[in-house]
Amino acid sequence: MPDSSENQSRPAAGTTPAVEFLNVEVSYGKFVAVHDFSLTIEKGSFVTLLGPSGCGKTTLLRSIAGLVDITRGQISIGGRRIDDVPIYRRNIGLVFQNYALFPHKSIFDNVAFGLKYRNVPKAEIASRVTRALEMVRLPGSEKKLPSQLSGGQQQRIALARAIVFEPEVLLLDEPLSALDANMREEMRVEIKKIQKQTGITAIFVTHDQEEALSMSDRIVVMNAGGAEQIGTPQEVYDRPATPFVADFLGKANMLPGRVSALRTGGVSVILSGGHALDLDTPRTLAVGDAVTVVVRPQMLTVRPGPGANRLQGKVTSTSYLGGRIIYEVDIGEAAPLRVNTAISGQMAAEGDSIELGFAPSDCVIL
Ligand code: ATP
Repeated sequence: MPDSSENQSRPAAGTTPAVEFLNVEVSYGKFVAVHDFSLTIEKGSFVTLLGPSGCGKTTLLRSIAGLVDITRGQISIGGRRIDDVPIYRRNIGLVFQNYALFPHKSIFDNVAFGLKYRNVPKAEIASRVTRALEMVRLPGSEKKLPSQLSGGQQQRIALARAIVFEPEVLLLDEPLSALDANMREEMRVEIKKIQKQTGITAIFVTHDQEEALSMSDRIVVMNAGGAEQIGTPQEVYDRPATPFVADFLGKANMLPGRVSALRTGGVSVILSGGHALDLDTPRTLAVGDAVTVVVRPQMLTVRPGPGANRLQGKVTSTSYLGGRIIYEVDIGEAAPLRVNTAISGQMAAEGDSIELGFAPSDCVIL
């Protein structure tokens, strides 16, 4: 795993991390679903496990809850190893994609479940349930049944049920994926707000990069059972450490080429289709090195100004987004360039010639 952001992922010396994975492996029979996974999660932070289907996100989440056994390594919560602690003794709140409410129990009983189970006195149960329902903005819904609520409301109840007993860690497994687009956005903001208000440590699983970027303090980008990169949303988006991260987070343009000269603070690169670029990079490279230049679609501008790298091509497709437009442009390199730009003046049409540009600093060299 690239190491630059791993150091930043460690909490300050002396503080006990909320959750710590150390060289964790999880196998299902002979199949290793998660291998050599290490991660330190600071108290009160919101960490997202992001990756494509099957990369092992849910397996990791379930291993914290005790729903799957790890086959190697160790997991600690609040500094205590939990490998041998049974599920019911782990103080963890869980929210799943499908709400998992008890259909025949009232909202009160659904939310109170974890408190009754922990033998909390009756009067305290009532006041805590009231507070939790206020927090998820469904006060007064105690007597209703889950079926009388919308999907979004049911998911809020699931959230209230998970936080009402003040768990050490809140685990959220794709909690928004069953909701429609508008509700999803609203719930993103809501979950984040409640997490900050309560100061609870949250681990969120999703394959949706927008969700991850907008909600997380840190993102673990996962691929094939391991962590590809760990960092803040800005770090993983702006400074992807691998081609996989660059592509998974927002469809980056990846241009293969070779270093042709060294410059102060950067290099010159000739792309495989012949374009010459001047690029900034903190990396130490040598003339002749094979590189991949990663440029985000938003970093490309139409009608570039002085000092920019220029690329001429023909528009092969356009997608109007209202205020912005996505062009695909054939520049004679292996793949067309994707450009996502604000519309100013006339839009280009399919078949038009176009000049694109980006500043030497607006790329990453892998
Ligand atoms: P998704 O987003 O589709 O839920 P994920 O990243 O959460 O994917 P996991 O559910 O953790 O992935 O699964 C990781 C791998 O382990 C997958 O290849 C999956 O097929 C496999 N797997 C998961 N559960 C089991 C199981 N009980 N038995 C055997 N293999 C399993």
